[in-house]
Amino acid sequence: MTGRKGSDGGEPTVVKFGGAALGSEASLASVMAVIRNAPRPLIVVVSAREGVTDLLKTAISTPSDRRKHEQVLQRLTALHDGGGTEVQRCLEDLRKQFGKLHRAAGARASGPSRSWLARAPPPLSDAILAYGERLAAHWFARLLERGGISARAVEADLIGLATDEHHGDAIVLLDRSEVPVKRALLPLMRKGVVPVVTGFVGRTPSGRVATLGRGGSDYTATCLGHLLDAGRVELVKKDVSILTADPRIVPEARPLSRLSYEEAEELAQFGAKVLHPLTVEPARDKGFEVVIRSLVDPSKTTTIGPALPGEGSRALTLLSPAAMLLLRVPGGRQRKGVIAEVSRVLAHSEVNVITMFTSSALLIVLVEHGAGRKARRVLDPFARADGASLEGPLDASLVTAIGEGVLADLGGLPSEVSSRALGVSATSRTLSFAVPVSAGHDTLVSLHRTLVGRRSPAPTARERALRGLT
Ligand code: ASP
Ligand code: MG
Repeated sequence: MTGRKGSDGGEPTVVKFGGAALGSEASLASVMAVIRNAPRPLIVVVSAREGVTDLLKTAISTPSDRRKHEQVLQRLTALHDGGGTEVQRCLEDLRKQFGKLHRAAGARASGPSRSWLARAPPPLSDAILAYGERLAAHWFARLLERGGISARAVEADLIGLATDEHHGDAIVLLDRSEVPVKRALLPLMRKGVVPVVTGFVGRTPSGRVATLGRGGSDYTATCLGHLLDAGRVELVKKDVSILTADPRIVPEARPLSRLSYEEAEELAQFGAKVLHPLTVEPARDKGFEVVIRSLVDPSKTTTIGPALPGEGSRALTLLSPAAMLLLRVPGGRQRKGVIAEVSRVLAHSEVNVITMFTSSALLIVLVEHGAGRKARRVLDPFARADGASLEGPLDASLVTAIGEGVLADLGGLPSEVSSRALGVSATSRTLSFAVPVSAGHDTLVSLHRTLVGRRSPAPTARERALRGLT
């Protein structure tokens, strides 16, 4: 296996462009400039162009509507104009996939289970969604070539980026991917060719295409960083940055210039939509930094890396609504294994637990909103024991404060936060409050005021440079 360094002696850099960054002519010009200035060897990862994944989703949700499918194909043709024969081939293949969708829907309509009608089989749905990224990679590689940058489109599933079988939110199997991915990409990089790799897709052990979940191209980028021993991974978004809170609810929210891996992971898990939840792990494992950059405003960058000594950042998330279930078990935690058993049955039914609060007899479980009723069914048997009861699903909001050492801030919190809380959970870097949905926004705002407002703003890039910090 090749060593840590790339062909020109430097560690490779992975730069991923989001769909919106590949959207307009103006932002494409900035994207080209980023690529020209990026250190080599360079690997580019692309998302589908803006709106394309949604278009494909609409096509999937109307499996029998051939006119709609034609419209989608026309729109995609226009969006990837100039992409050459490979783009043509992708569009023809996609038309065939639409044909399969149509036939699958027809078969279901006449079969016994009509309720399945509008739902495409997940492998077929993933096969269709993957065309957003395939088209983008071929189209963009051509664009780079025309701009004088030697580039080659690479379809991640075809080179053997391996995933598990969880269609729609697959996990990348790094061990299985390493040899095939290196075999495909290193020779290109050695020749000075920029691989333009499809984000969001991989191949399952049974040889099908699987997608990595919404926003999954970020995760592809850090996986490639891991597999190719990158020095750093940049996630270039058009105008997105990581802020201390959602600015639509907290207008005072400000950009975060640095997060530890652990803080970023918590942020993604607790609902900050800017980051795909699995993105950070490959970076933490290998120790490279992930830089999130805004194309529109280069001063808005967030660097995710090892925790630095001293205080951490403070960021707040709101997950709302979530479904809350309250299970009273007599004897409660004295009954050995009750928490494990509850977790096991929920996991077995594929219900994701967001968090749990426990007292001696009461177990509060928070799950995703759509899974509330299923969780109720799964937990019902526990409520049949003498004296046991089960309440819910009730709607709740989960407000989480994240940052190294945030537990120490607990004492200074406004009383309105604790008085509204239905449950609290805490670790040294997270404080989570479940509150009634109606109190979600207020809780977020008052926590922000207390935890972020009183801290001095993080230095800007310019201030850091002036102080010799960068
Ligand atoms: N195109 C996919 C999505 O829209 C993946 C990505 O953008 O990262 O979610
Ligand atoms: Mg996208």
